[in-house]
Amino acid sequence: MYKNYNMFQLTLPIETEMSFPENDIVFIINKLVESVPQEAFNPYYSQRGPSSYHPKMMLKIILYSYAHSVFSGRRIEHLLKDSCRMMWLAQGQTPTYRTINRFRVNPHMMEFLHILFVGLRAQLLEDKLITEDVIYIDGTKIEANANKYTFQWLANTKRFSQSVIEKSTALYEQLVSEEIIPEIKRESGHELTSEELNQIETHLGHKNDALTSEIETTQDVETRKTLRKERSKVRQSKKAIQDFKDRKIKYDKQMEIYGDRKSYSKTDHDATFMRMKDDHMRNGQLKPGYNLQIATHNQFVLAFGVYSYPGDTRTLEPFLKSIHNLYGDIPEYIVADAGYGSEYNYTMILDEFEKTPLITYSMYLKEKQRKYKNNPFITANWEYREIDDYYICPNKKELHFQSYRKKRDGYGIQRDFKLYACEACVGCPLRSQCMKQSTNPNTNKRLFKNLTWDYFKAFTNQQLSDPKTKHIYQKRKIDVESTFGNLKANLGFQRLSVRTKSKVECELGIALMAVNIRKLAKISVRFRSLIRKKPSNSKKMNFDVFFLKELKSMSQPLFVYGRRMLWEVSLTYISYINHNDTYRLNEIEIKKSLYKMVEFFDEVSSLVALNLMFKFDKSDFEKLSQLKELYSDLGYPVIEDKLENRLNSIYRHNDYYILLLIKDDKIIGFSGMCKMYFYEYDGEYMRILAFVVSSKYRKRGYGKLLLNKSEELASSLNCKAITLNSGITMDRKSAHNFYKRNGYNNGTLGFSKLITKSL
Ligand code: SF4
Repeated sequence: MYKNYNMFQLTLPIETEMSFPENDIVFIINKLVESVPQEAFNPYYSQRGPSSYHPKMMLKIILYSYAHSVFSGRRIEHLLKDSCRMMWLAQGQTPTYRTINRFRVNPHMMEFLHILFVGLRAQLLEDKLITEDVIYIDGTKIEANANKYTFQWLANTKRFSQSVIEKSTALYEQLVSEEIIPEIKRESGHELTSEELNQIETHLGHKNDALTSEIETTQDVETRKTLRKERSKVRQSKKAIQDFKDRKIKYDKQMEIYGDRKSYSKTDHDATFMRMKDDHMRNGQLKPGYNLQIATHNQFVLAFGVYSYPGDTRTLEPFLKSIHNLYGDIPEYIVADAGYGSEYNYTMILDEFEKTPLITYSMYLKEKQRKYKNNPFITANWEYREIDDYYICPNKKELHFQSYRKKRDGYGIQRDFKLYACEACVGCPLRSQCMKQSTNPNTNKRLFKNLTWDYFKAFTNQQLSDPKTKHIYQKRKIDVESTFGNLKANLGFQRLSVRTKSKVECELGIALMAVNIRKLAKISVRFRSLIRKKPSNSKKMNFDVFFLKELKSMSQPLFVYGRRMLWEVSLTYISYINHNDTYRLNEIEIKKSLYKMVEFFDEVSSLVALNLMFKFDKSDFEKLSQLKELYSDLGYPVIEDKLENRLNSIYRHNDYYILLLIKDDKIIGFSGMCKMYFYEYDGEYMRILAFVVSSKYRKRGYGKLLLNKSEELASSLNCKAITLNSGITMDRKSAHNFYKRNGYNNGTLGFSKLITKSL
């Protein structure tokens, strides 16, 4: 017996949503897009023209199509009439492919995507699908929507441009020497500017006119012939100058498009020619493309960036900055492969972001090989005598320090080296193994040592031998590289369908969000259990709740709505103490900030206010045990009695100030200052004598705030400058970078001498 099948029986239409499985991808898309605050859609609203499709609906249908490997506008339009899921998402509306194409590269799309990524991350954190402490970074090249053979090479442009310079200068000099045109005033002897070429062209025009009128007035045939010849030469020169001018404009424009790249495509100026892994011609040909950088955790894409450089090294800094702007902070561990391991990148992560790089370097694996370690001709294996600062070569000769050298790498970044040299290499029997064959036989071996790079290598080796960080690094391949597999192989996103970088970013953002949605649809039963729940104030993916959580933990400030403001508010208060006055600083400012914040987060105002319930009185200053702890952090441990005496003396002095940083009724930092007179100039300056933030509260922006407040105090006391001294030991390096980042120059050297036997 057949199952009942009757096309002619009258049936009532049912809600299509009811027929989808509970964990269907449409519910994830719906929930994700519905969680975006209504205000985020306001920029799309236009008061003119006919009513437009709701951006929520447009975003939902585009995400659904991308998640099903449909990237063409026409095919998306077709799906709207064919797929019941698309019909449900669009609620029966049918925008045309032109509307769809316009919407997905709309200038506001990136804002939308940022909100989606932040919201998704918050949800993933809440569901414990990811953690906050790690991101895995890697890059891949995506083929641009540009014609394959439309390359423009920097080397060629430079060559042609040089040829124009030489030819135009030679022609000008010839015209002047033959007295066809007068000499013009030139900006430089090197090349003729466009303005100067214009002047030459004008002179040639006048000459041409003069010759024409002369020919018309002359009756003699031979003279007319000579003049016509001369005029013909002038006309040819004029044409050549015009051509040089046009070519110069063209090459200048091309140089502008290159920026710091070496090539671009004529059909998409932002695309650069790169070597792709997917090489269908099998000849290693370069293709126009973009370098896509992603940051993942647990195979979820948390951030992305699109760059025009083929290499990964240079992209790391702008990419990390973009993540910092998006989320307000970056995780503690930055994990990436050897392509990112450069001195500049290590310094940047450690000093600028104050995070831990788990990034290998190009020789990392090779250095682990026994063959490498046992090779006596590799200078890294040579014995070093630290006291006398020299190396010993395999021939037992000494390489002594010669001088400090500076070199620039391929990207123009300066690196410092120490040069060591041997003095007895001539005639050495090991010379052929120790030095390059091509080296002049009369030269000695020179050894360039970059101590900073050696330090970073040792740091990386130490990090990757620690079981915890080693385990984190080992997950890199399965985390970030499989995400590229999901994008390119599983989703089938191999080539872009739009041109120019801003549009490419939008399309890649949608594609990566589709990858996340597909993954969400597959995993986490816990997540699925939330999918079908009716949105409610407490359970739905609510941005306000997310922000409030962040505010309470203070581990990660917000990305768009008043990050600075939250920092201000969350820091409970700062107080000044000087000889006769104790008062709360910034209470008015905090109230103002709070008021603004409450306006925005009006639903959560009472909770926010709770964070600010504090009281301050003089007893704060008497919390000597807390101050004692800070003195230990500063490296000057002290007993309480002594500290009390010391602070009493300072307290009595009119020109001494202490700025206390207090959080939750606990002193977590202080800045001790003294106002002084300049000997060399008129006026006064503030000298910071002691500056410390408790080690438990570092890397959260408190130091910066305390420094800013110290500067504000100095300014309010009419000081013209603020100065400080900091030790020169290696462990103070991050403190030095902190001061440099805050605009402090280290143009002077400090000297001191003990007058007594000890302090
Ligand atoms: S070439 Fe010079 S540095 Fe090398 S082993 Fe011989 S003496 Fe030593």
